[in-house]
Amino acid sequence: MTLASPHPMTMFGPDFPFGYDDWLTHPAGLGRLPEHRLGTPVAVVGGGISGLVAAYELMKLGLRPVLHEAGELGGRMRSAAFPGHPDSFAELGAMRFPPSASTLFHYIGLLGLATRPFPNPLSAAAPSTVIDLGGVVHRVRTAGELPADYLQVADAWDKVLQDRAERSSMEDAIRRRDVRAIKALWNRLVAELDDESFYGFLASSSAFGSFRSREIFGQIGFGTGGWDTDFPNSILEILRVVFTHADEDQVSITGGAQRLPAGLWTHAPENPVHWPAGTTLSSLNSGAPRPAVTRLRRSGEAITVEDASGTRRDFAAAVFTPHVWTLLGHVDCAPELLSSPQWTAIERTHYMGSSKLFVLTDRPFWRDLDPATGRDVMGMTLTDRSPRGVYLFEDGPGRPGVMCLSYSWNDDSAKVRTLGAAQRMDVVLRQLKAIYPDVDIASHIIGGPIGITWEHEPHFLGAFRASLPGHYRYQRRLFTQFMQRGEPRAQRGFFLCGDDISWTAGFAEGAVTTALNAVWGVLDHLGGATAPENPGPGDRFAELAPVELPR
Ligand SMILES: Cc1cc2nc3c(=O)[nH]c(=O)nc-3n(C[C@H](O)[C@H](O)[C@H](O)COP(=O)(O)OP(=O)(O)OC[C@H]3O[C@@H](n4cnc5c(N)ncnc54)[C@H](O)[C@@H]3O)c2cc1C
Repeated sequence: MTLASPHPMTMFGPDFPFGYDDWLTHPAGLGRLPEHRLGTPVAVVGGGISGLVAAYELMKLGLRPVLHEAGELGGRMRSAAFPGHPDSFAELGAMRFPPSASTLFHYIGLLGLATRPFPNPLSAAAPSTVIDLGGVVHRVRTAGELPADYLQVADAWDKVLQDRAERSSMEDAIRRRDVRAIKALWNRLVAELDDESFYGFLASSSAFGSFRSREIFGQIGFGTGGWDTDFPNSILEILRVVFTHADEDQVSITGGAQRLPAGLWTHAPENPVHWPAGTTLSSLNSGAPRPAVTRLRRSGEAITVEDASGTRRDFAAAVFTPHVWTLLGHVDCAPELLSSPQWTAIERTHYMGSSKLFVLTDRPFWRDLDPATGRDVMGMTLTDRSPRGVYLFEDGPGRPGVMCLSYSWNDDSAKVRTLGAAQRMDVVLRQLKAIYPDVDIASHIIGGPIGITWEHEPHFLGAFRASLPGHYRYQRRLFTQFMQRGEPRAQRGFFLCGDDISWTAGFAEGAVTTALNAVWGVLDHLGGATAPENPGPGDRFAELAPVELPR
């Protein structure tokens, strides 16, 4: 019998095992600035979750964050309501959050946002799960009902993780926040596996000796399904997700994920330094963010920020959160703000593409029982056809339902990128007909379609970063950019953070924790310091730094 661990699993490391959640909740606060710095304007570029977390914490420290946003506050946490149905929305970006994302949940808790289980494949929140692979359809409610060859693949995955990546020891070390044990295990895995793709890792393991086993695994994956589009990525990206349970027990934010960034914009922190009670990011920014940043320059000690309105302003520090590729074309950025190795890392950054398509239905008709079989007429669906994943959201029998008719990545996203939303819907409905010949999905649609392809959005050059084999060194250069003591003066005061800088891109937790690194960086840059009893990520950097691989 295995006893449940007394320690909750959190996304603690493994690359940089710092307890951001503890840092945030310590009564000593995040630090103090010298008196003369209070009220100093700091530019924050991007109003996604990382920009809002950075701006919120900088405001609490007594600085004046000046937020620039090219589009909509929320960024990749965007919830689009169906016209005429304000309570029904399409989660266009982030939609499911693991409880192990303890730093993200600090902010979800701060705003008092409710959550509910996310209807992932084989989860209790999904009515049932339908797997369509190679034209053969299986309908199940739990993992235990899967056919034998699927169960063997699940066992093979457990085995390969244990044999080649010491999963149970890693998980135990992460739960216990045992930095030494995490470092000993993870540093070895980084050195061994940085050159290995996800597919290569499987193919070179005896447990996945057959092509069929790899194909099934690519279809059903672990937790959230459909991982074969990740096969070319570095296996380290996958291990980070698995080890920290980022794909387990996920929940959605009731009312939409965008409530989190939007809520931080209008939330008045208790006892902010310098600012009167009731101060919010919105009030400090006169109710609206400034437009897109177009140009970044160094002027003596200052960073000069120019925006789309032509306004130019000097800041003592600037935090930059958008896709780093935007620094190569969209924003005219002075080369001296970053080092040459950092520019190379930006050039090499790799993104996943992703498309989603949503419709509103009259009711959760998928719960209707098929008179012939006695089963639900439809289930959460994983298919190897291009819609890939169909997710079902419901608010009770008498209320409209929301279908994510298709959630796809990379090549499957590319297949539809030139099609408009209505054309995509036709394609998806045609493909689903092959799986559900007797279900007239179209007759239930009362709203939408709402579609998105992130790599086509003007201010986003992809869905999220995904490192390829051999990219660890590039990731390390960008993650550690917030440590600027001792760097040339020209490269100080400009801080990169957000999804691209994170070790767990594609998970908002990484965007939030890198924002907190930038907050520490700004504090340090402006002559502030943390309390000795609550050291920040930079104070503990030497001890926790991600392992350096030889050149
Ligand atoms: C399809 C998809 C599914 C996802 N699913 C999940 C999930 O289920 N769970 C999860 O945890 N995470 C998920 N993620 C990842 C999560 O959405 C991100 O990690 C997080 O939202 C990134 O926040 P950010 O602030 O770093 O970046 P962003 O949200 O991209 O914010 C950057 C902001 O900068 C703005 N901007 C761009 N250029 C400029 C400029 N020149 N000037 C001013 N502003 C500019 C952009 O408009 C944007 O608002 C998903 C992402 C996508 C795309």
